[in-house]
Amino acid sequence: MSHVLVTGGAGYIGSHACKALAQAGFTPVTYDNLITGWQDAVQFGPFEQGDLLDRGRLDEVFAKYDPVAVVHFAALSQVGEAMSEPGKYWSNNVTGSLTLIEAAVAANCLNFVFSSTCATYGEHDNVVLDETTPQYPLNAYGASKRAIEDILRDFEAAYGLRSVIFRYFNVAGADPEAQVGEFHRPETHLVPLILDAIDGKRDALTVFGTDYDTPDGTCIRDYVHVCDLVDAHVLGLKWLQDDKGSRVFNLGTGTGFSVLEVMDAAKAMTNHQVPFNIGARRAGDCTKLVSGSTRAEQELGWSPTRSTLETMITDAWRWHQTGHYNH
Ligand code: UDP
Repeated sequence: MSHVLVTGGAGYIGSHACKALAQAGFTPVTYDNLITGWQDAVQFGPFEQGDLLDRGRLDEVFAKYDPVAVVHFAALSQVGEAMSEPGKYWSNNVTGSLTLIEAAVAANCLNFVFSSTCATYGEHDNVVLDETTPQYPLNAYGASKRAIEDILRDFEAAYGLRSVIFRYFNVAGADPEAQVGEFHRPETHLVPLILDAIDGKRDALTVFGTDYDTPDGTCIRDYVHVCDLVDAHVLGLKWLQDDKGSRVFNLGTGTGFSVLEVMDAAKAMTNHQVPFNIGARRAGDCTKLVSGSTRAEQELGWSPTRSTLETMITDAWRWHQTGHYNH
């Protein structure tokens, strides 16, 4: 059975990816430092605790499993924190990824799937973002991910490392079987914050700004179901194994929803009011991020099936009510 090294496999997206990889016949090996991940989320293959910055530990894990590929999720990913503590993002995300990439090359593991972000694009007036849109990140999170994309290109030229880079739009939802789900501490993402506000686990949701240049004044994002998103990673892995070369793919649906529209959908799907108040803009937020996603559909054969607001919220709500990790 082929091993795949999954960094961040104890996190939200990584844990869903491990399930999808296991279902596709791979053995996912989770490499995670458990700073933002949860050991309970590691259910579909072996677990190796370790840090991206620990080259010795990475070398040990590559030698132990001889993986056919790396799927690299592990990263700090909060825009607010990236604005206030940028050094953490350059160190953990960039130096950590460089250490991982060097270890992969040294172990002759030359297939690399990387989770990048639409935050690398930054602000573009009312355009649908495709993979050729220039990247001008507004915050250290986006900048750190763009830098890693550059590192991957340089390592391809020098060492033949092949990469599939996925630029994610907004990921939401949960495993419909609620074996794994979204659980961040602290939580900063819109859908879980709405669900927490609905069931009184936290105070009202603060809407970050109603003065954006959008129809209702709130920011617009393109939400994709986590299960659809990780399915693309399995396709990306097969793409690399079929020797199709390095490629960048956006992962979004091409449809944007405002913060207020997401709240309305949550109210409709849960039959509960969403307690909220209006706050100031959050530093580092773009007005609108919507994907042109035809490349993934046409070239990878990716076809999202769960990425409607209704299904994402229903699946997230099910996990919210029934799933949990010990913590
Ligand atoms: N948002 C909000 N209140 C919150 C958290 C998020 O209004 O408490 C908004 C945020 O400004 C953005 C959208 O919800 O427009 C999605 O934010 P999230 O942090 O989930 O993802 P991001 O777009 O930063 O990747």
